[in-house]
Amino acid sequence: MSLDRPGEFETIAKLFRPLAAGDPAARNLADDAAVIPVKPGHDLVVTKDALVSGVHFLPDDGFDMVARKALRVNLSDLAAKGAEPFGYFLAVHWTPNCDWEKREAFARGLAEDQKLFGVHLLGGDTVMTNGPFSVCITALGWVPHGKSPSRAGARPGDAIVVSGSIGDGWLGLQAAKGTLGVLEFARLEALQKHYRLPEPRLDLARAVRDHAAASVDISDGLVADLGHIADSSGVGIELHLDRIPLSGAAKAWLGQRADDLSARLDLATGGDDYEIACAVRTENMAPFIKFAARLGLPATVIGRVTAGKGVRVLFEGMEVPVPQAGWTHD
Ligand code: ADP
Ligand code: MG
Repeated sequence: MSLDRPGEFETIAKLFRPLAAGDPAARNLADDAAVIPVKPGHDLVVTKDALVSGVHFLPDDGFDMVARKALRVNLSDLAAKGAEPFGYFLAVHWTPNCDWEKREAFARGLAEDQKLFGVHLLGGDTVMTNGPFSVCITALGWVPHGKSPSRAGARPGDAIVVSGSIGDGWLGLQAAKGTLGVLEFARLEALQKHYRLPEPRLDLARAVRDHAAASVDISDGLVADLGHIADSSGVGIELHLDRIPLSGAAKAWLGQRADDLSARLDLATGGDDYEIACAVRTENMAPFIKFAARLGLPATVIGRVTAGKGVRVLFEGMEVPVPQAGWTHD
């Protein structure tokens, strides 16, 4: 049961019900639960991520952006598991200062991304708290039966491939906080956008399920998330710091750093990338890379799977120590 404050049912009826209109499974948000017909020959992929004000977004970030980020980080998990999303559940924990205008902005952000990614709101819960404001989304997608790669499928000899570029999310957070230092305005803008509005790699999902032996989405930091593949698969991973793909903005930032190695380590451990890292068998490399190239999305080989355990980070051919692999919650 939720807290029955004034505004709860109005919020659901006026702001959330329109977001459910495209999928009859939502039962118009007027029932106790959604009822989803099972798609024959498929597995249901389900993921949940919570975003807390002051932890996952800045307290004065726009509510439309917060809503979109909450949806996108979940869609990123579905993409990493090779799934096609169709819907999501939303728990929103408003605080007393979440007025109608903010709630409207929140729903507007969701509407925009629903259109972009082809998903609908299926249900949820709406409650009040004294804070902090937080949002929790559960996203659902279909993948052909048995085709979703886990983190456990990597074998020695596989290549480690990553989509897009690494480090912009972390740089974007520094830029948003105003602590990044001097960089062209357009670059600062692009980095902040990457932090606030990550791009889930749903277009790559098909290649992931067809060609990847193991996969993970990069949220905590490249080194930490590759560590999850290494641990789950019982293998080692050799990561070449100098092969990690960087955006123009990240390169410009790197060019200004006195300590090149430690700056590269910051990018490889910072997190908020929402790219996909995969272990790919040698024979699947060509089709994987070709698929990504057709999308115009960079797919870069940044290392390889070895015997042993853990992630070894190499720079200019030498192993380097990593002070902290990525972000963790206590
Ligand atoms: P119950 O008390 O049976 O859990 P609620 O009164 O909490 O039901 O919710 C009524 C309907 O509104 C349900 O269909 C629920 O899924 C939907 N709903 C409530 N909050 C949200 C939300 N934040 N997003 C989407 N649907 C919501
Ligand atoms: Mg409820």
